[in-house]
Amino acid sequence: MATTAGVYRNGNHSRNSQSTNNNKVEKPLSFNPNPKNSLKSKSLPGSGLRKSAPPLGTAKGDTGVPGRVRVAVRLRPRNEEEMVADADFADCVELLPEVKRLKLRKNNWDSDTYEFDEVLTEFASQKRVYEVVAKPVVESVMDGYNGTVMAYGQTGTGKTYTLGRLGEEDTSARGIMVRAMEDILADVSQETDSVSVSYLQLYMETIQDLLDPTNGNISIVEDPKSGDVSHPGASVVEIRNQKSFVELLRLGEAHRFAANTKLNTESSRSHAILMVHVKRSFKGRDSILSSETGNNPHMAKSLKPPIIRKGKLVVVDLAGSERIDKSGSGGHTLEEAKSINLSLSALGKCINALAENSSHVPIRDSKLTRLLRDSFGGSARTSLVITIGPSPRHRGETASTIMFGQRAMKVENMLKLKEEFDYKSLSRRLDIQLEKLIAEHEKQQKAFENEIERVTTEAKLQISESERTYAVELEKERLNYQKEYMESIKKLEEKWMMNQQKHAGGENIAGLKDESSNWISNGEDSRVANMEELSEMKTKLQKETLLRKAAEEEVNKLKSQLAELKKSEASAKSDISKLQKKLEDEACQKEKLEGEIAILQSQLLQISFEADETARRIDRGWYEKVPGSLDSLMLQVRQPQNNDSGNGEKASIAKLFEQVGLQRILSLLEAEDVDVRIHAVKVVANLAAEGFFLVLYQHFASASFYGQHQLIQNCASSDIPSKTNQEKIVEAGGLKSLLMLLRSSKDETIHRVAAGAIANLAMSETNQELIMAQGGIRLLSMTAGSAEDPQTLRMVAGAIANLCGNDKLQMKLRGEGGIKALLGMVRCGHPDVLAQVARGIANFAKCESRASTQGTKNERSLLIEDGVLPWIVQNANNEASPIRRHIELALCHLAQHEVNAKDMISGGALWELVRISRDCSREDIRTLAHRTLTCSPTFQAGMSRLGIDY
Ligand code: ADP
Ligand code: MG
Repeated sequence: MATTAGVYRNGNHSRNSQSTNNNKVEKPLSFNPNPKNSLKSKSLPGSGLRKSAPPLGTAKGDTGVPGRVRVAVRLRPRNEEEMVADADFADCVELLPEVKRLKLRKNNWDSDTYEFDEVLTEFASQKRVYEVVAKPVVESVMDGYNGTVMAYGQTGTGKTYTLGRLGEEDTSARGIMVRAMEDILADVSQETDSVSVSYLQLYMETIQDLLDPTNGNISIVEDPKSGDVSHPGASVVEIRNQKSFVELLRLGEAHRFAANTKLNTESSRSHAILMVHVKRSFKGRDSILSSETGNNPHMAKSLKPPIIRKGKLVVVDLAGSERIDKSGSGGHTLEEAKSINLSLSALGKCINALAENSSHVPIRDSKLTRLLRDSFGGSARTSLVITIGPSPRHRGETASTIMFGQRAMKVENMLKLKEEFDYKSLSRRLDIQLEKLIAEHEKQQKAFENEIERVTTEAKLQISESERTYAVELEKERLNYQKEYMESIKKLEEKWMMNQQKHAGGENIAGLKDESSNWISNGEDSRVANMEELSEMKTKLQKETLLRKAAEEEVNKLKSQLAELKKSEASAKSDISKLQKKLEDEACQKEKLEGEIAILQSQLLQISFEADETARRIDRGWYEKVPGSLDSLMLQVRQPQNNDSGNGEKASIAKLFEQVGLQRILSLLEAEDVDVRIHAVKVVANLAAEGFFLVLYQHFASASFYGQHQLIQNCASSDIPSKTNQEKIVEAGGLKSLLMLLRSSKDETIHRVAAGAIANLAMSETNQELIMAQGGIRLLSMTAGSAEDPQTLRMVAGAIANLCGNDKLQMKLRGEGGIKALLGMVRCGHPDVLAQVARGIANFAKCESRASTQGTKNERSLLIEDGVLPWIVQNANNEASPIRRHIELALCHLAQHEVNAKDMISGGALWELVRISRDCSREDIRTLAHRTLTCSPTFQAGMSRLGIDY
């Protein structure tokens, strides 16, 4: 994201200039109709759009082109109607996103090529469109600049889709407005900052308020001093959260529809303008006040005023660019027809005038240009996305849209490139795949977040519910118990009182014992009664105790239920964190994949260019240079080129191969002329690379590659030659010739290309054995020792790394100095070379660990013997992930074998293993490291000695 932001940023002020120089640097100049005025404000550099702006790329410290409107073109996919109606016709445009170019077909055999800042194919995800078109603009709005994002194009080409989709059913479809607000809200502070929006519609030079339709004709007010534009009558709504913003957009959309129905027009005739005002407050700086407060820095500190930065983001969904029928037959009067698109044509005129450096920019001609005055050029960032459809029936409109975009990029950029670029369908498919993955990933992530939220709320609800029931039950139980307890106490007291009384009576009676025998019998009766009561009381007491026990049990049961619930909450939480981890891993995996795709694409491009170059050279040079017998061959080569210019690279390589004959190409490897030799090696390298892609395809197709292996298999089946070029090259003795070039040539280019071809050939096991048998490792080691160019070293290291993965060749490879050569190449320090070295070491270690598991190897690792350990320990946490990943694997493989453990501990590898087992982003490596550490007694002892708590 940072890179796209860097490249796609326009405007020529550094961020700091804004905070130190608070006197409105954002004063607009580009749309200032009076050039004299602009000269007066001398503190400012030239206009963003004028030709007088600094030449492209001259502003120091700014990676992008300064002050220029950035223009992206986006192609809408064919819709259902077009699929049927245009089924037999090719699209009127062809996009070349890698080189940011677009070809507009003139006829079957000719087309014009145009360059844009970004070319977005029909597969481009909404996320990517936002990131390349709007994100840099949003970022500068957050920094206090004004910024504009506009969509221009024929009705139905996707302007509203690009800008205004709410994406409520499918979050990956969210458009620029929604995404921009998400980013803004994520970045502002609720306490100190404020975000507010207005939403307007401009139709027939009347501005309506889409947030309050009763607000009629809204005026535009320009501050003559600052150039700021405001529209006092319009509603301004403060935004606190995303939900309320989406509601507002929906409301605006409904009002737009209603207003247009009332005016009897379509929304395609009006412009919709969303304005987002961001006001942010920052802590003040000492320097501003210390000069005013003399030498009292203390006072300055206490008086630091906050700095307020205001940025305005304007998103404009322009009216359809198609010409409207001026005859009035479309239901409009001539007057109406004139004014319907007045603003749009005025915008076009202003852009033309600015692009042509005209002295008069007709900014006052329309409301739209007046409204955009302060967000266009100067220190403002402007992005224009032009939308086009694929249908050849609308070629005229598409062409005029493209020309509008080209003019907006300034006249200098209106290059009509005549060169042809071709590139393999694989590249295109990978691109499509990538875009789909991005959209899919975003959708999944959003769904996942929602799921987490749902599970968490559910769990919380459950817990609070059971806590409540528990409390209620407990209270009920307590009250019951208390009541019963009080009652029994009362009863006992009563009984006790009665007993007391009786007992006192009994004593008197005893004193008069002998007075009457009647009395005696009476006394015995009462004792019996007492005994009975006592036993009754005892039973009651027992019952009471039982009741209490039951109550206690009930309480315990409820307590254990609560604990159970807490446990399940904890497990839900751990589930959530596991899922989160998985998501992170997925993201990481995706990133890696994207990186690999990028490398593949650049390799492809490189191959295409080299092939083109080779073909061209054959056309021009070889014809004269190569003696007689090759004349006819060259003629043959020229023939297919001429016939099939549209399919350049593929034709040149494949047909060259078919028609010229491999044997003859190989014979050119020994040509006297260095140039001829170099290009012959390149041809062979390219042929070998086709085999490489075959291997790659098979590799991807066999793995469950993001669950998309079907697609890759499809790619594979359509593009794979039946017998690989590699096999043909080897059969024809090409490998021998390539090795000989390494031995005999002094030219580093030849070394580089030959090593590249050998590296490609070394992907297959049969070739690996052949390379070794023909002394390849010595030659590669020799080249490794003498080469200086990192690309040569990368190729050599790649070739050796491939050989390292062959179980059968381990001893020989090491014996002929392969490991030492590999290690020697780290001197170059280039990350690509280091990654190949690490890969080779990991391959070698893997074979060794396999051999030791099978019991065929019992000695210490040859890698350790050859002194690899210090380098891998040093680089185990290298920040480049390809290097790190291979080294982590290598360490895990080495650690598998107990005989290596002692050296690894003394070499410091144990620390790294512990780190890997805890932090490695790949779960399989993490688990492997962990298992190894817990199983190995030597490592266990080592850890306790080093005080590592594991
Ligand atoms: P405009 O605003 O330029 O008139 P819309 O945005 O309304 O065009 O798009 C016209 C139709 O094409 C809509 O049905 C929209 O969903 C569809 N559409 C536009 N762009 C795309 C795209 N990139 N992918 C899929 N459908 C699209
Ligand atoms: Mg629209």
